[in-house]
Amino acid sequence: MNPQDYMKIALKEAEKAFKADEVPVGALIVDPISGEIVARAHNVSEHGKDAVAHAEIEVMRKACRRLKQKRLWGLEMYVTLEPCTMCAAAASLMRVAKIYFGAADAKGGAVVSGVCFYGAPTCHHRPIVEGGILQDEAAQLLKAFFGQKRQKLLAKKKTLDRKNILV
Ligand code: ZN
Repeated sequence: MNPQDYMKIALKEAEKAFKADEVPVGALIVDPISGEIVARAHNVSEHGKDAVAHAEIEVMRKACRRLKQKRLWGLEMYVTLEPCTMCAAAASLMRVAKIYFGAADAKGGAVVSGVCFYGAPTCHHRPIVEGGILQDEAAQLLKAFFGQKRQKLLAKKKTLDRKNILV
């Protein structure tokens, strides 16, 4: 499989998050030698009542549990959105060899945006980074999700306004 094929599977994870009313981000850990998908996950912050349960954290923990090891030397991570500062740092601590991401995230990203964490002198392991894999699909999913959220909020506000008029 090529990076696009893996990213398609990460996007499937993001779609699962979307259906569960979670911010649609999906991630995989892949062994580049065997080609095996070691773990797959999506963001579960809402249902897990855990603001740090990003797709990357979930997938790295799952992979470690499965492999019964605390780091992910030589393994690669696929994630549909550019990792945030926390996830970029976590991937460094986990010793992930390479990160493939989909859409860049100008607001919250930390790999090619914002703090560009891997360029910091305090970062001691720098995964190779390749962005823009199926970025349009990943961005489209996020746009649809937040568009839907805004619609729901507007509808709620209208209902509240109507109630206030009636009172
Ligand atoms: Zn994150």
